[in-house]
Amino acid sequence: MKNDCIFCAIAEGEIPSFKVYEDDLVLAYLDINPFSEGHTLVIPKEHYTGLLDTPSDILKEIVVRVQKVAAHLKEALPCDGFNVLQNNGAAAGQTVPHVHFHIVPRYGAGGGEIAFANHEGKMDALAALAARLRM
Ligand code: AMP
Ligand code: ZN
Repeated sequence: MKNDCIFCAIAEGEIPSFKVYEDDLVLAYLDINPFSEGHTLVIPKEHYTGLLDTPSDILKEIVVRVQKVAAHLKEALPCDGFNVLQNNGAAAGQTVPHVHFHIVPRYGAGGGEIAFANHEGKMDALAALAARLRM
């Protein structure tokens, strides 16, 4: 393996994958531990770690491919909806440090959110935080 990255090895065909889509820039394949039927990962063939180190021109192209694959899955599975998830850093649950987008098909009427345990926001704290973060 060139750089110890399992997704680079998949992109180079050194490790097999259940491929759904491929072009010069990206590869899309089924997640080996799916959240739902059709759970698919879209990766750039080039190695980047996450959202912040992926050049923006490449990121735009990846997102267009995510749209294309998601549209295909919705039709071909078919599914009723889907989540697009992209984890950055171990703190966010990223286990493979090669940037990837999850497309998670959802079925039925009210599938609910994927494990976001939200808590009620406090208006004054939100206002202060927005003031601190405003770009
Ligand atoms: P993340 O937690 O966002 O880093 O997601 C990594 C995903 O990669 C997990 O959902 C794993 O199930 C999936 N995964 C790990 N190894 C493979 C593999 N060899 N083929 C397909 N999916 C994989
Ligand atoms: Zn890689």
